[in-house]
Amino acid sequence: MTLVMKFGGTSVGSAAAMRETADLILQARDTWGQVAVVASAMGSKPVKVTDLLLRGAQTAFMGDSETYQRLAAQLWEIHYEAIDGLLSPEGERQIVLAEIERFVERFTSLCGAVRVLGELTPRALDAISGMGEQMSIRILAAYLRELGYDSEAIDATEMILTDGNFQNATPNMVATRERTAARLLPLLDDDAIPVITGFIGATADGVTTTLGRGGSDYSAAIVGQALEADEVWIWTDVDGVMSADPRLVPNAVSIPTLSFREVSELAYYGAKVIHAKTMRPCVESGIPLRIKNTFNPTHPGTVIEEDRSSQPNGALKAVTAIKGVSMITVEGKGMIGVPGIAARTFGAVARLDVSVLLISQASSEQSICFIVTEPAAAAVVRGLEDEFADELRRHDIERIWSREDIAIMTIVGAGLQTTYGIAGRVFSALGDHQVNVIAIAQGSTECGISVIVSGDDVGRAVEHVHDLIVAGE
Ligand code: ADP
Ligand code: ASP
Ligand code: MG
Repeated sequence: MTLVMKFGGTSVGSAAAMRETADLILQARDTWGQVAVVASAMGSKPVKVTDLLLRGAQTAFMGDSETYQRLAAQLWEIHYEAIDGLLSPEGERQIVLAEIERFVERFTSLCGAVRVLGELTPRALDAISGMGEQMSIRILAAYLRELGYDSEAIDATEMILTDGNFQNATPNMVATRERTAARLLPLLDDDAIPVITGFIGATADGVTTTLGRGGSDYSAAIVGQALEADEVWIWTDVDGVMSADPRLVPNAVSIPTLSFREVSELAYYGAKVIHAKTMRPCVESGIPLRIKNTFNPTHPGTVIEEDRSSQPNGALKAVTAIKGVSMITVEGKGMIGVPGIAARTFGAVARLDVSVLLISQASSEQSICFIVTEPAAAAVVRGLEDEFADELRRHDIERIWSREDIAIMTIVGAGLQTTYGIAGRVFSALGDHQVNVIAIAQGSTECGISVIVSGDDVGRAVEHVHDLIVAGE
């Protein structure tokens, strides 16, 4: 039996956390036989190594020659402390320290180049931000060896072949599956424990790419699919997927089971506990996913699998929110009955390479409303004004505008959209607490309803919808 275990930033965030993690790996190996490990960059809150790397690159780009040097020292300290706590001087300590030193030097010289050139390409950002995983896996694998187990640190650049869409690269799954299986299966057959970088891949030319922030979960699912694993377990710092972000809603509860669709909807609409793309390889290959807490391992966490219940009961299960988005509205009486306005609107947005998070259905054809991230809003309005210059002149379209400081709140539960009365209960809870609903939309699957509210209202909205969940409504 094969298990893929992914450990997030906090699970490898310190020597103590790596010790817990190693225990969990070794216990799982006793039970499952073959275990492949995927790890994130070290991420003891509040300092996440990936954030630190990105900040170094960005400050260098602004011409700042001091911050990245200070961050390099911090990078060294974080990794040094972990190595110091885990690896003995008689063992591989010096070797691993030298490897980390090389990465820190590379970070410094790349940031130096960014500063001198005054240019920060997505490609350079990926080279820099992907180094966190490359460092953490080397420490974890060396520690497993120190404990007497055969383990190898593997950069996913050898296995995950992607396109050149830096920062959000898409894997070529066929080639990736082949390469990953060819690289890992012999190791697993030899009883070794591969420890693989999450987050990164490489183009056919071997240039490092990243799969998007939080992408290590996705890496684990890709590895799971390639190995035809029996299960993929995501180890994090909370007891599985919860009814709301426990940092924002203190009485959030862990949800024992969820379907792939429910979790996809939650992840897409902001629940950071799992990367939205993780579910796809697992769905395709029917691999159950489990989310567990490294710091509370006896808690069962959440099991995610295909929804087998033929009669979803429409219970509310979780609520999530995305803040910092803008609502774009294209409005005008002359739009009624004119074919192609929607196609032209979304065509223009797509040409700007901006993704639309949500489209809200208007009750008439007089307006089209959709949500984009706040930084993209101004460019979208300009792009649409160009596209509809003639219509604006003729007043067929009267106004194209963006409303800032908007939030999307999404409520998730199988059968939600088709269960009588649920939406009513949600809207009366919002109304009772003076939350003004700007627009609504059905989520991307039938198990979610999204509500657009102002940024000022979203905290209250989440809290009161969560009260309905806790009350079992
Ligand atoms: P990791 O580094 O382990 O991948 P992340 O920080 O990416 O960890 O994800 C875990 C965090 O996700 C939790 O600490 C929690 O604050 C946040 N989170 C947001 N929404 C939820 C939710 N619905 N259930 C659980 N955690 C959530
Ligand atoms: N380290 C990466 C990030 O912070 C990937 C991950 O943690 O999943 O985005
Ligand atoms: Mg994560």
